Amino acid sequence: MTGTITRVPLARPIIGAEERSEVDRVLASGMLAQGAEVASFEAEFSEYVSGRPCVAVNSGTSALLLALMAMGIGRGDEVILPGFTFAGTANAVVLAGATPVFVDIDPKHFCLDPRAVEAAITPCTAAVIPVHLYGHPADMDQLMAVAARHGLAVLEDAAQAHLAAWRSRPVGTFGEAAAFSFYPTKNMTTGEGGLVVCADTATARRVKVLRNQGMMGRYDHEFVGYNARMTDIGAAIGRVQLRRLPRWTSIRRENASRLSMELAAARIDSAVSLPQVADGADPVWHQYTVRVRGRDEVAAKLDEAGVGSAVHYPNALHQLALYRRFCRGRAPGLPMAERASRDVLSLPVHPLLSETDLSAVVAAVCRAVPN
Ligand SMILES: *Cc1c(COP(=O)(O)O)cnc(C)c1O
Repeated sequence: MTGTITRVPLARPIIGAEERSEVDRVLASGMLAQGAEVASFEAEFSEYVSGRPCVAVNSGTSALLLALMAMGIGRGDEVILPGFTFAGTANAVVLAGATPVFVDIDPKHFCLDPRAVEAAITPCTAAVIPVHLYGHPADMDQLMAVAARHGLAVLEDAAQAHLAAWRSRPVGTFGEAAAFSFYPTKNMTTGEGGLVVCADTATARRVKVLRNQGMMGRYDHEFVGYNARMTDIGAAIGRVQLRRLPRWTSIRRENASRLSMELAAARIDSAVSLPQVADGADPVWHQYTVRVRGRDEVAAKLDEAGVGSAVHYPNALHQLALYRRFCRGRAPGLPMAERASRDVLSLPVHPLLSETDLSAVVAAVCRAVPN
């Protein structure tokens, strides 16, 4: 760290007057915990996922965990997930009592490689978790086909992919369930928060019971559950954010195409590979992530120039001793996941960037990269 003030931050939550006044309204009502605001937020989010039932919870990690539990996945089950993702994906699998099986990614789009998934299937495999990483949808045609062939449940990790689509169909509507996150750096926020999209009302009902101490009616405990409820304060923020999300998403798309155009024109392709969009994918640019030669030096130079950047993620999960313990000795090398962890760098793409900011990002990258 150089102590330079970051002039162009990598991410910043957008909180306006409307969020503040909605929070004030909820605070004044005296009803702070899960209530009517959460129910309205769920109904409004449902409109973006083809009307599927939605259950709001207190984080994206809780959404993944409760979804797995509601799908009946736990001890003795193997769950296939990418070796290159945020640790929350793997933590949910381990916390559910299942065995994580890390497989490799497609190097073009950083999402699960369907052939690698098929090769990792055993008689114990119960589910697969495609992660729509950086807001780019995984190849849901091929992944759903593999899952159907082998009778696997699909849980989409859509924590980074609100409003993304695959062949015009919203992510979150392919699997038995999907998990979204509303952490402040995500494309929309509730402070902390998450949401499970379910394919059917029976699964949604189980998630609702699990988030509330295992009870459906008051003190009517069906099984051991969590307190994973969202507050009405968070939901009130989320309702405003959700109304803004389509506009913010188009700005992210404009920013990404502008970055790609200017970086391509800068002729630095010997050092920087730009993000690629798969046929059929409609990404929402949670991150604009490039591959860079000499990544860590470039990141340090960007920091000196006042441009925020970050490495998502510096470790492929299958390489961490922590997770190796849970893999029952099955921890093969995953060359594409490992390469990504050494190469990737996320640049600012969020909706608050001005044209000057975007040009500053491009100029700083051009100065920072090795010739
Ligand atoms: C953020 C994130 C999560 C976890 O969400 P939290 O709300 O932080 O618990 C899970 N998976 C991915 C891919 C994420 O980016």
